[in-house]
Amino acid sequence: MIRERAYPVDPWHIRETRLDLDLLAQSESVFALANGHVGIRGNLDEGEPHGLPGTYLNSFYELRPLPYAEAGYGFPESGQTMINVTNAKLMRLLVDDEPFDVRYGELRSHERTLDLRAGTLERTAEWVSPSGQAIRIRTVRLVSFTQRAVVAILYEVEPLNRSARLILQSELVANEQLPPTSKDPRVAAVLDHPLQAEEMLEQRTGGLLVHRTKASDLRMAAAMEHLVEAPGKHAITTEGHPDWLRTTVAGKLDPGQKLRVVKLAAYGWSSHRSLPAVRDQVGGALASARLDGWEGLLEAQREFLDEFWDHSDVVVEGDPEVQQAVRFGLFHTLQAGARAEQRPIGSKGLTGPGYDGHTFWDAEMFVLPALTYTQPGAAADVLRWRHSTLDLARERAQTLGLQGAAFPWRTIRGQECSAYWPAGTAGFHIGADIADAVRRYVQATGDVEFEREIGLELLVETARLWRSLGHHDRHGRFHIDGVTGPDEYTAVVDDNIYTNLMAQLNMLAAAESATRHPDVARRLGVDDEEAASWRDAAAAVHIPYDRELGVHQQSQGFTRLQEWDFENTPPEAYPLLLNYPYFDLYRKQVVKQADLVMAMYVRGDAFTPDEKARNFAYYDARTVRDSSLSACIQAVIAAEVGFLELAHDYLGEAALMDLHDLHQNARDGVHVASLAGSWIALVAGLGGMRDYNGQLSFAPRLPSRINRLEFSLLWRGLRVRVSVTDDEVTYSLRNGGGSARLQLVHHGKEIEVTQVKPVTMPIPSAMPTGPATEQPAGRAPVRRAPNL
Ligand code: BGC
Repeated sequence: MIRERAYPVDPWHIRETRLDLDLLAQSESVFALANGHVGIRGNLDEGEPHGLPGTYLNSFYELRPLPYAEAGYGFPESGQTMINVTNAKLMRLLVDDEPFDVRYGELRSHERTLDLRAGTLERTAEWVSPSGQAIRIRTVRLVSFTQRAVVAILYEVEPLNRSARLILQSELVANEQLPPTSKDPRVAAVLDHPLQAEEMLEQRTGGLLVHRTKASDLRMAAAMEHLVEAPGKHAITTEGHPDWLRTTVAGKLDPGQKLRVVKLAAYGWSSHRSLPAVRDQVGGALASARLDGWEGLLEAQREFLDEFWDHSDVVVEGDPEVQQAVRFGLFHTLQAGARAEQRPIGSKGLTGPGYDGHTFWDAEMFVLPALTYTQPGAAADVLRWRHSTLDLARERAQTLGLQGAAFPWRTIRGQECSAYWPAGTAGFHIGADIADAVRRYVQATGDVEFEREIGLELLVETARLWRSLGHHDRHGRFHIDGVTGPDEYTAVVDDNIYTNLMAQLNMLAAAESATRHPDVARRLGVDDEEAASWRDAAAAVHIPYDRELGVHQQSQGFTRLQEWDFENTPPEAYPLLLNYPYFDLYRKQVVKQADLVMAMYVRGDAFTPDEKARNFAYYDARTVRDSSLSACIQAVIAAEVGFLELAHDYLGEAALMDLHDLHQNARDGVHVASLAGSWIALVAGLGGMRDYNGQLSFAPRLPSRINRLEFSLLWRGLRVRVSVTDDEVTYSLRNGGGSARLQLVHHGKEIEVTQVKPVTMPIPSAMPTGPATEQPAGRAPVRRAPNL
């Protein structure tokens, strides 16, 4: 699967040393910059050539019809698509009348570098125009973490051999023409001209455009301003049109002289506010960016990232490729969530149009685990956003004849947008995933105020859904029938173990939180009887098991289904969903992504070690990893059951998903869940971190080629650091003084750590492994340790 490596290994940078136009779309995703509010793809400054132009604002979308061949009750009527908004990164250059375009003339050198500590994308190029004029260009861009509305670009250009006329045209462009979308139905629908012009303002050094969407009725404004340093005579003009605005800087420069332009841009949008209000908002944001200037923005960006890396960095010694990829993954995780501020985190963040920009359970079960322990405020904000959509989720439950809240499988604004029931609304586990994210956040931070204001209501409404969706049979067992678990190749099934165990946790967490906050619970209408009904259902949850095989059934009857013929499935037939009819996938034992294996991680307290080993061997042999959400979780359980080298292989796959474009769809945006998942694979996999029942525990063990692993997490305000080598691990606290004590469990043994007393513990010798594992033919992860 891994093809020739595009980016040299480097611990803190992603460098592209040569421009490969065939990889342009992929590199635009890899080099995308975002802060959770605004996202810009790594398009070349001059806009062309491009793979896919893209500028996105979190939750700025257009509605589109969801066509059905046959109507059915409860089908969502309209979809939501994140749209490409006004592009502020365009800066075209004319060199003595000839446009700088990498496809013409001679490109002597071209390098782009994403700097993970500076938070910038830098580009340097030397180009000779068709008529022989040589120039050097350096651009640096950032999407500010500290000023969420602001994008800034530094553009420097100098003639190299003789004096030249340089004309820099810096633009804001709305309704850019987009290339046709790919054949993959999962790829976002492209909307034509989604923005209607409302206002244009031109000033000498910049201006502003205001647009609004037709159906979703959202208004956005983009503004720009230029700070120009040019030697000698130069002219600055701005001209506008409802859909574009262009500031032109024209100068004549000698070799050794440099034209330096700083472009400051600001974005704002609203569904309620008036045109003057939105216009003024971006004007204000621009004024604030001007106050800091380029240097100030750069410095603030670095300070923000210094702080982030200080308590979030993961050090992996022995596998430099994974080291780089994991930092890249953490950087994109931060970019997706840092300033989302009560908006969702989409499965591609703001890096591309894949999946229409929708958020899925990816956010709560993959991104939030990493953010909760590194950037807890961002995790809380995502849950606040879910909370703000509760009325829609209650309405959806009502439509479906259920109680409580039915959260959408995929959405931007909160309404269900999946047009395919079996891999859509039937994925009811999303409710329990949200509840789990609440439980995890409250437990990791001790944020009682959040629990009272936001958390309890989410727990209660999701618990209500389970109580009404499930039922007790005549023996009293509680079943949840007709749902789809994480494995979308086994759909609309009874008693999916993942769903059942997560619902169990959800109902117990709701009952416990209601007991902790009786006043809030009363306000939400929870009485003793209701809480007792949650506890009863949780205690009676049915877990299907195959006695003959000695393994759990992912869902009732799964292990009796026909086996998939992996031997005769050619490599090009993956992903299977694009090459086989769903009915065939549904009736056979083929698993798209970790499902029961995921349950053994997040509900590991519900399985014995022996069950985990046997289940893992059974399901690993049937899991094809057609979803990027699989490898990281398989890494966690592979490590737990003793297959450390396999865990390392899966970790590599999760971490390199986008840098090596393993699923060949990185062009549509990066796979945020897999990137955040590489943190999970390291911390929960090799570090063995678990947080069951409020108890932080670790069981680190390293594979042969990783000789040191170090990670940090935030736990109830304490900065915990875990440093693992081959034979020992040191737990330390970096704050809290002598008085703060952290009780944790190391390989089953309780220990206490204080700031003055780090604790070093031996790592028990390798545990015996369970039954050998083998992946489906042709689906083994790429080996990271070739000699083993
Ligand atoms: C996976 C889902 C995931 C979605 C978005 C699908 O292919 O099966 O689990 O939520 O992609 O990443």
